[in-house]
Amino acid sequence: MLQIGRKRLYDVVVVGAGISGCIVSYLLAKKGFKVCLIDVKRAEDVGDKVCGDALIGRGLDLLGFEPPSDAIMNVASALRFHASGMAPITLKTRVFLLDRLRFGQYFLHKAIDNGSIFVDKCRAFAPILKGDKIIGIKARIDNSQVELFAKVTIDASGINCAIRRNLPKDWWVSKPIGRNNLALCYREIRKLKESKVNTEYCDVFYDRKVVPKGYYWIFPKLDDLVNVGLGARMTTINYDLKEGLYKHILTNPIFNESEILASGFGMLPISPPLSCSTASGFIAIGDAAKQVNPFIGEGIRPSIISAYIAAETITKSKDFDQDHLWSYNVDFMKKLGIRHAMFAAFGSFFERLNYEEIKPLLSVYEGGTYKFGDFEDFNIGLLLTLKAFLKGFKQLKSIQKETSIIKSVLSIYKDYPDSPKTFLEWMHKAERFWKDYS
Ligand SMILES: Cc1cc2nc3c(=O)[nH]c(=O)nc-3n(C[C@H](O)[C@H](O)[C@H](O)COP(=O)(O)OP(=O)(O)OC[C@H]3O[C@@H](n4cnc5c(N)ncnc54)[C@H](O)[C@@H]3O)c2cc1C
Repeated sequence: MLQIGRKRLYDVVVVGAGISGCIVSYLLAKKGFKVCLIDVKRAEDVGDKVCGDALIGRGLDLLGFEPPSDAIMNVASALRFHASGMAPITLKTRVFLLDRLRFGQYFLHKAIDNGSIFVDKCRAFAPILKGDKIIGIKARIDNSQVELFAKVTIDASGINCAIRRNLPKDWWVSKPIGRNNLALCYREIRKLKESKVNTEYCDVFYDRKVVPKGYYWIFPKLDDLVNVGLGARMTTINYDLKEGLYKHILTNPIFNESEILASGFGMLPISPPLSCSTASGFIAIGDAAKQVNPFIGEGIRPSIISAYIAAETITKSKDFDQDHLWSYNVDFMKKLGIRHAMFAAFGSFFERLNYEEIKPLLSVYEGGTYKFGDFEDFNIGLLLTLKAFLKGFKQLKSIQKETSIIKSVLSIYKDYPDSPKTFLEWMHKAERFWKDYS
């Protein structure tokens, strides 16, 4: 199956066999589409990625996706947020701690077993255009160039955006991910020697002394195996992340004599999602469409959801022009995009606060246990407002500020246009908001 088809004419070409690319290929091939999936990696390396390896389970059941049991190392029951000098804030949700390689390989094989043609060591570098339509891609295998033609091209190439960024600059879909919208992370997987960790909690720490504008995490893959890392917006990093990990985090006694099993740097988008992820004959999914929760860096579940929505859109579309593929934008916005936009605005607000300003805000939530859904939907509610009121003026002001940010974002994103005809007007409004806001 690793041979490229001679005719090189497919229903769908998918660039990138990360989680989004494998899942969309699997879903479409299962429905009878002729799919060609390519990746620059060797087949056996597909799935391997520098990541926190934590898949949040909320909403996955709706899609009928449970990760395969042999790729799950642990199922934690909550995310905990820590800020120095405060009791943790607990968000209840199932979190699957993945064996990332096995997880990726499982979905790659599902794609292949359902009929996708997979080509490894194949680097896509340009779209093939016919007027305003994308009709395929150019790629390199070893030293030879190939052209693959398809009714729909899907860019699932992660932050590389191999096809999207090479589309004409005036197309809505080709908006680049600026450096300011990227986070740089460093993470290690460590086998503990002397200590055991509680496997129930995935811990996230906001400590300005360790990561001035970002956070660090300790996620338990097993009680003696942890994924530990730190990251921040690229433009705010003026220090060595790896050094920061060694100086501030690995000095925690649980890491005494621990052994590194893997390490590396990685990047992810931390901005509102792309306003438009489609063009005629084209859809961008996953990181390539900036579909990551920009506050907590959660991108695996969004990638799965966007792959699912893309497959549904393509299956239902009578044609693959911009008008017909538009429902992908609408459905993703409704399902997650609007939440990501709220997190992007809240994240920039949070980043700009100094510790004295953050304290009153977090103190309203401090020590509490919440549903992940309430956090994701910014359900601030009467009870929290009352709690803030009882705590004092500063706390109430912080909660009011948070509420007003969320309201402004909602007022724009709830009007996301149902068709491309009114998109330009909406986009200008959204751009004005982000310009004023940042
Ligand atoms: C350090 C770090 C920690 C993270 N932790 C978490 C976490 O704990 N939980 C969570 O939910 N999310 C996390 N994320 C985010 C998550 O990893 C991503 O959002 C998710 O993996 C995106 O999947 P994807 O399929 O869109 O892209 P990717 O997984 O990046 O896959 C893209 C694929 O495209 C291929 N490719 C790239 N360019 C080309 C080309 N030109 N031609 C052919 N193939 C190409 C690549 O080889 C790759 O296989 C983290 C990210 C980082 C960097």
